[in-house]
Parts: sequence; structure tokens; C-alpha cells
Amino acid sequence: MTESLSRTSTGQIRAELLSLVKSVRGQVQNAEDLYVEVDCKKPVIRKGLHAKASGHHRASIQELCREVAACRHCALAQTRKNVVFGDGDPKAKIVFVGEAPGADEDDQGLPFVGRAGQLLTNIIKAMGLDRKDVYICNILKCRPPGNRNPLPDEIRLCEPFLKEQLRIISPQIICALGSFAAKTLLKTETPITALRGRFHFYEGIKLMPTYHPAYLLRNPPAKKQVWEDVQLIMKEIGLSKSS
Ligand code: URA
Repeated sequence: MTESLSRTSTGQIRAELLSLVKSVRGQVQNAEDLYVEVDCKKPVIRKGLHAKASGHHRASIQELCREVAACRHCALAQTRKNVVFGDGDPKAKIVFVGEAPGADEDDQGLPFVGRAGQLLTNIIKAMGLDRKDVYICNILKCRPPGNRNPLPDEIRLCEPFLKEQLRIISPQIICALGSFAAKTLLKTETPITALRGRFHFYEGIKLMPTYHPAYLLRNPPAKKQVWEDVQLIMKEIGLSKSS
């Protein structure tokens, strides 16, 4: 009798556990289904976005942009005004990768449009190029509140989008602006001071780390080193100093 009672209760516990597992699975599926697949201007829900962010190849930068526009993977989605996906020519030879949008970028939905952005625009002009000739984006697509540093989890969740963005653009050169971009892309803890000045490789693409324009605003003498790095890039893509 006691034995059959304990068998019954073990059976009940098993059944309850199974039903709990089913319910959790259902909730996870619902959460995945909430991701919308959209046009950059009108976001759309995509099933299992996160899995696809690392595995699925998008046909175009627009398709990727639509997904990113709808992203709610991390808490930055609650505080952002705009997703800052990227700007410029998706067929560019050079991609500049910064850290994360600031207040101006969050307001306008465009990367590098504040003071640091003006300096980056001047660097691009000094190369004999225009912003529309290059592509500009960031490690994070949403602004960290108060311009704090990106958190490791935010980088982890956002990085698959950048990876896909760079795969689609497939540039000849990546210029990593500042420590966060360089360390994230190169998967290293080596300081930017030791990384800059020579090419590294990211997924087979030549990558030049250099100082972030915001650092140059605080430390103008470092412009000389950035110009040296930029000249190595220019040489690599066949741009002459005077052009
Ligand atoms: N700093 C960045 O790293 N990215 C921007 O878009 C603006 C400032």
C-alpha cells in the first residue's frame, strides 16, 4: 500500500515536472516569436532571431538593417531613441567601426554625427574621400545611457549583427576606432597603444586599429599617430596622399 502510494506520488512529480518543462519551452518559443522582421523603416518579427544572428546569412544590408531595427535583445532597447545601424556605401572598400552611439547619434539614428564624428569626417576628407565613399558603423547599435562603456553582455548580444554587416559589405580594410572596437574585433586584451600602427586580420580582412576620434579631441597630439595609421590604409587601397 505504502509502496503503491509512493509510486503514485513519484509518478505525479514526474508528470508535474514534465508539464513544467513543456510550459517553459512554450514560453521561450513565444519570446523568440516576438522578434519582428521589418524594413529598416518598418520593423518585422523574425522567429529565433538570436540563433539566426549567428548562423543565418542575410541577402542584403537592408534585410539585416530591418532585423536590427526591431532588436530587443538587451536593455538598451528600452532607453534608445533610435537604433544606429550604420551609414555609407555598403560596397565600400573601407569600413570604420566605432564603439557605440552617443547622444547625437541616438537622436539622429546615424553613426558619428557629433563632435567625434566631425573629426572622423575630417579624417575621411583628408584621405581624399567622402563619408558616402566609406561605411561607418559601431560595435553596439544602441546608445548606452550616459555614454557609459558598453557592457560585455551588450557586446556579446550585438556582435553577431556587426559580424553579419561586415560579411555582407566584405570590405578590403576595416579601421577599428578605439580600444573597444579593436579588442572586440580582434578578440584580444592587448591595449590599443600596442595594436595600432600595423595591420591585423579579422575574418581574413585587413584591420587597422587606431585611436578613437573622441580620444583625439581630448589628446590632439595623438592625431599624428592616427594620420600614420590612415596613411597605411591609404597605401593599401591605392590612395595617394594628395588625392
Ligand atoms: N562614438 C562612437 O564610437 N560611435 C559613434 O557613432 C559616435 C561616437
